[in-house]
Amino acid sequence: MIEIKKSALTNNYRFLKSLMGNDVIVCAVVKGNAYGHGVGQVLPALQSVGVTHFAVFSSTEAQHCHPFIRQGVSLMVMGFIEPAHMRWIIEHEIEFYVYTPSVLSSAIAMAKILNKKACIHLDLETGMNRTGLTEDELGTCIPVIKENRDWIVIKGITTHFAGAESIANYVRVMNQFDRFKEKVEMLSHDDIHGELLHVASSAAAVIYPQTRLNMVRVGVMLYGYWPTREIWIQYARAMKNHSNPLQRSIVWKSEVMLVKDLEEGEFVGYGLGYQAPQNMRIMIVPVGYVDGYSRSLSNNGHVLVNGQRADVIGSINMNMVICNISDHASVEQGDEVILIGAQGDNEITFSSFAEMNNAMNYEILARLPDHVLRMSIP
Ligand SMILES: *Cc1c(COP(=O)(O)O)cnc(C)c1O
Repeated sequence: MIEIKKSALTNNYRFLKSLMGNDVIVCAVVKGNAYGHGVGQVLPALQSVGVTHFAVFSSTEAQHCHPFIRQGVSLMVMGFIEPAHMRWIIEHEIEFYVYTPSVLSSAIAMAKILNKKACIHLDLETGMNRTGLTEDELGTCIPVIKENRDWIVIKGITTHFAGAESIANYVRVMNQFDRFKEKVEMLSHDDIHGELLHVASSAAAVIYPQTRLNMVRVGVMLYGYWPTREIWIQYARAMKNHSNPLQRSIVWKSEVMLVKDLEEGEFVGYGLGYQAPQNMRIMIVPVGYVDGYSRSLSNNGHVLVNGQRADVIGSINMNMVICNISDHASVEQGDEVILIGAQGDNEITFSSFAEMNNAMNYEILARLPDHVLRMSIP
């Protein structure tokens, strides 16, 4: 079962809002089912503390979020629009990135059919070489925009940095920012203006204040995680304060299904993945890769039981995982097991680059499947 702590989401949003200042909109990134937390829990919680802008990756994700979005709150697709969804997107006033001229032309065609304006953000290529309009593509789009002012609202102009999470990318990121500003200036000469200018995700929003412009797109920090250890250290040093202002909002728990003893030399689970180096006590937990507990944690992950760490031994099975509890005082069937979250003085955490001690990659977070029961708690 997954518990989502509303108080933590509230805390994180208020912290980010105070750090960014009143003039900067904090757009909540809820792609990947709100980083695995569940849009059904996260969207209501964030709207009740005042979030007015949300972003997802695709039109499919937008369709999942839409039932939870209140009147007057905006939803933006930062990536893929299924061609078959263009009608739905424009009918529901979903904002979306124009990352290639064909998205613009199909949006205008549909806007005319529906007699409704398309709400677009111009996604500019500035050096990441992923999505974004190149110089030539922008040249194609400018006259089209000028001729179709009645069918388009330019909600924003945007780009994405290629790794602001690491200070090592400083020069590349700053070059991207310069190129972005030049292009925005150039577009203004064609009388093309975005209501919102937005380029920063969590990392840039924290360490490069000049990139906040009038909106930041924050994902991982809303859920209570620093993008990387580097960003946390840089923030803490600048603030001269080493108490973490973020709170993790997810707890993923299960329970002990079985406890048993093993003799030295026995193998555990499938094949020869793990051999007991001495007499051991183990527990079986009914969570497996079908639940999103990644196979990469075979012989590698750990969980918490009775406030103490227990290492995963052997491979992760489809529905079960085996952990070593030889050093635990007493573990009994039915005891709570924490897969993500805190118990006692210990915690299992995440980071996007997973270089932190005791941290899992947030790919695992994003992959927590829909079928795992989620509950909002205050
Ligand atoms: C995922 C994403 C973000 C949010 O990134 P975080 O590091 O989680 O804050 C912002 N913008 C775009 C385009 C993204 O894809």
